[in-house]
Amino acid sequence: MNPDLWLPDGDLDPAHREFAQRIRAFAADKLAPHARACDEQRTFRRAMVADLAAAGILGGPLPQQYGGSGWTTLQTAIAHEELGAACGNARGFCAVQTGLVAQCLARFGTDAQRARWLGPLVRGEAIGCFALTEPEAGSDVANLRTQAERQSDGGYRVRGQKHWITNGGIADVMILFATIDPSQGRAGITAFLVDTARPGLQRETMPGVELGHRGSDHAVLTFDGFPVAADEMLGAAGKGFGVAMGGLAAGRISVAAGACGIHRAALAAAVQFTTSRQQFGQPLAQFQMVQERLADMLTSLHASRGLVHRCARRRGDGSETHADVAMAKLYSTEAAARATEEAVMLHGARGYSSAFPVERLWRDIQALRIYEGTSLIQKTILARMLTAE
Ligand SMILES: Cc1cc2nc3c(=O)[nH]c(=O)nc-3n(C[C@H](O)[C@H](O)[C@H](O)COP(=O)(O)OP(=O)(O)OC[C@H]3O[C@@H](n4cnc5c(N)ncnc54)[C@H](O)[C@@H]3O)c2cc1C
Repeated sequence: MNPDLWLPDGDLDPAHREFAQRIRAFAADKLAPHARACDEQRTFRRAMVADLAAAGILGGPLPQQYGGSGWTTLQTAIAHEELGAACGNARGFCAVQTGLVAQCLARFGTDAQRARWLGPLVRGEAIGCFALTEPEAGSDVANLRTQAERQSDGGYRVRGQKHWITNGGIADVMILFATIDPSQGRAGITAFLVDTARPGLQRETMPGVELGHRGSDHAVLTFDGFPVAADEMLGAAGKGFGVAMGGLAAGRISVAAGACGIHRAALAAAVQFTTSRQQFGQPLAQFQMVQERLADMLTSLHASRGLVHRCARRRGDGSETHADVAMAKLYSTEAAARATEEAVMLHGARGYSSAFPVERLWRDIQALRIYEGTSLIQKTILARMLTAE
């Protein structure tokens, strides 16, 4: 076993290496020991939020003036790989709480909105959700139907439904996307920042048993006359589509980094298993067909991480394009899906049981191929950029 081959440390300068090792130690101590139980019991572990806050992870990428640590995008990617390797639920929680909610609020919010919510979000005292997807508007979010009807006092009443909303059942604060004028298409979409403790909101757990991320909270939110005050907009009226895309551009790098974490965990498990399991008188890892699979898993991991770190660095220096993000998310999630599939098969029947970690990794990675823009949507973005005049 040579973990140096799959850990990112050798590619990082000393400061980033020390940073990765710090997050890795935290994840090994506070997250990994609970990952299997959370999945099997299908429970959101509230204590995890306090641990992430105490370690400075919830506020990591936020500017110090808001109680954050001012991580660069590269540091955020490094952290999300470490979280993803230990526990997909924790990584997914951070992606929404910090990536989609707190960072959007820091970027688009007013001073009053930031003062009210950023501190509680960073300290884990408040939980946030990002309510964009609807039953009839998934990939095609510009076609959302939830409507905010203007009232005589200048405020709004919201009617409609969102689903698959991570943290939706437990959130104290929500970024809610609704149209203030359906005839305007995406120019009618407006973002609101609202606390959830008010009438007109029904929250239900998503129906069915989910494939992965079973320790996460995913909800159906039904709005029926949900009141929103005039000063609760996030950004300007009709500019909500830009808020959503701004949040997702940052979020996709974190998803891509999280996929590297899952990929790495699958590779580590496969190496460990195939070097100890003996069949036909020798360890599985001595068969060439097994070696070929291990070698491919390692090579594609480095290709994924290279794309993710390149994208993070370009975001840091302002040169990032939509193509950088799309390639990083597309390649890393698909490569990790292939790696987890190989890891399951290399474990034989043991890969089929939760007694070993690889079946959970295989289940968890599927969601990363879907949310924040499916793999096919990333391909449409790239193809459109390639063929545009
Ligand atoms: C675990 C989990 C957590 C989530 N958390 C959140 C959250 O916190 N907030 C939130 O708002 N949403 C969340 N989502 C929703 C997620 O963002 C959507 O599921 C995703 O955008 C896809 O939408 P859809 O499921 O409606 O699929 P659809 O858009 O119906 O797509 C179905 C299939 O058609 C393909 N397709 C669609 N359009 C095209 C096209 N133009 N060209 C080619 N293929 C196409 C897709 O790639 C996909 O394969 C979550 C989803 C999951 C699974």
